[in-house]
Amino acid sequence: MCTLEELKDDESFWDEILYSKQGARHYDKLDDESKNCNYELCKKCGGKCCQRCGCNFSPDDFSDLSFDGLLKEIQKGYITIDLVDGDQFYINGMIWLVRMRNVNSPIVENRIFHRGESGCIALKENGCPFDYAHRPAGGRLFIPGKKGFGKDCHTPYGTEEALREWKAHQKVLSQLVDFIKDTNYPCQI
Ligand code: SF4
Ligand code: SF4
Repeated sequence: MCTLEELKDDESFWDEILYSKQGARHYDKLDDESKNCNYELCKKCGGKCCQRCGCNFSPDDFSDLSFDGLLKEIQKGYITIDLVDGDQFYINGMIWLVRMRNVNSPIVENRIFHRGESGCIALKENGCPFDYAHRPAGGRLFIPGKKGFGKDCHTPYGTEEALREWKAHQKVLSQLVDFIKDTNYPCQI
């Protein structure tokens, strides 16, 4: 863990605070590879963040949010529909969100306490296989701190932000969950 003083020295920490005061979608302004990526540090770290859980997608990462459009993406085998207890984030009810699949995890993840069991199915020895533009929002916006190695890294697009966005798409996600059930689509990465 880093101290508050160390966080205060971190420019992206202040950006996050400033933008969060500007209302919904504050993180859009932080979606900037030149500002929030430190590939040298992340290479040395080996992806501690990705080893804990696959990062969240934003609905904006998909060009087609229809049943067929999302199914086509999910059938690539590296995307999970994950059930999260919204009450933990002051959002009522159980909510489905969409994130990268974890190693040895199902496409539909309906167990609440599973995070930390395994890491992102896409993580390779050299890091994330997606270039910045094609990485899920949760990965693009995972900002390494000065120390790195997960000690002072932080994100303005965490589970809470993803839940707030995916809440509007529960109907289609529930339909997909019913359709997919225990089907396993092999990972195509
Ligand atoms: S963001 Fe932090 S935890 Fe993730 S790879 Fe970079 S240094 Fe490691
Ligand atoms: S998609 Fe990339 S950034 Fe996201 S968790 Fe997987 S390896 Fe990490």
